[in-house]
Amino acid sequence: MRTLRTLRGVDVKGKRVLLRVDCNVAVDDDGRPLSGAEQRLEAILPTIQHLQSEGARVILLSHLGRPGGKVVESLRLDDVARQLSVLLNTPVRYIPEVGGPDVCARVEQMQDGDIALLENLRFDPGEERADLAFADALASLGDLVVQDAFSVSHRSHASVAVLPRLRPSYAGFLVEREVDVLQRILVNPERPAIAIIGGAKLETKLALLKTLLPRVDHLLTGGGVANTFLRLSGSPIGTGLVETHPFPDVSALLSESLDKLHLPTDVHVIRGGQSRDARIIPVGALTPADDVRDIGPETALAYCRVIATSKTCIWNGPLGQFETLPFGEGTRRVAHCIRNADAFSVVGGGDTVRALSEMGLLSAFDHVSTGGGAMLAFLEGAPMPGLEPLYTPLETA
Ligand code: ADP
Ligand code: MG
Repeated sequence: MRTLRTLRGVDVKGKRVLLRVDCNVAVDDDGRPLSGAEQRLEAILPTIQHLQSEGARVILLSHLGRPGGKVVESLRLDDVARQLSVLLNTPVRYIPEVGGPDVCARVEQMQDGDIALLENLRFDPGEERADLAFADALASLGDLVVQDAFSVSHRSHASVAVLPRLRPSYAGFLVEREVDVLQRILVNPERPAIAIIGGAKLETKLALLKTLLPRVDHLLTGGGVANTFLRLSGSPIGTGLVETHPFPDVSALLSESLDKLHLPTDVHVIRGGQSRDARIIPVGALTPADDVRDIGPETALAYCRVIATSKTCIWNGPLGQFETLPFGEGTRRVAHCIRNADAFSVVGGGDTVRALSEMGLLSAFDHVSTGGGAMLAFLEGAPMPGLEPLYTPLETA
């Protein structure tokens, strides 16, 4: 198996280290970080602290939002620099440009243990275009590259995929942990292993289902994914979140994995478009006027029994429309079961993590992935251009 080159044991004293991180915190219209942003920033602190304590000159590189290759005032990183200073309890100098003579001069002046944050990389059109000249200009600012932005490691951007090829490069502690955990799920999960897949669309989760199904003992479904499965297995779901196109390869998947696949047996629906008319019904009583918004309590209980026996559990996708009361109930109940089970539990996905964070249930998990799309890409076996340069060549026997 391939292993990542990690930061452990690397001499960074006096070196200028270009540390790619993800400070893409949600911001308000004035660019101020919204509450909850600390979680994302806290995830990168261990690598920064390690580099600082080892005497490196740390140059942080990040993106924020989608400025589209030009300067957008509300997407500057000055507030992020301030917030990082508070979290680290040490100054983080904000450099208000991505390149040019001033940036070089500011980096030249850095002392061992200093930390600086470059302006939003996506202000330069070269970042998202994976432009070699832009990556080269970034490389000229440092001696080493550390990649700790797992959430963009499926992107082929200059700072992610090109820069690590231009200098000696290593995985930071966050990337190391993410890869470790997800690799363990794929390669050697402790059994019984289960996957919980919900969320908006089967279409976006199909590749994930295909790689996970052979590796797990049970697949528990919810959300739009379950609705579409229910429709494909003959339930008359006609409205709400359900995909109506054919899915030719899903029938085969369904029949091959019937023993593993768990569909809801009761559901929380809105009948005839009236939200005050929310009710819990058995799946057998569904009519074409029902909009399925959540799994029901009987399903949650059945899922909990499976979870209680599991040793590994991976979850992506809310089991219902958690943003609207009371349709977060299925997600909440299942998260509680995971808290009480002794499975090694992993959760990821932008909306899933937001749902569980709002419910105060993230602590129920052994690992909360910082990669939404990146986690899915990794588990699907999709190319990871931001990790590829960090693998040591295969050792020959
Ligand atoms: P993630 O971002 O965690 O991968 P998705 O983006 O796939 O998750 O799906 C999350 C969205 O799916 C949420 O906005 C949630 O409201 C919605 N959702 C889940 N189940 C339902 C449902 N039964 N009806 C309507 N919306 C649902
Ligand atoms: Mg989402």
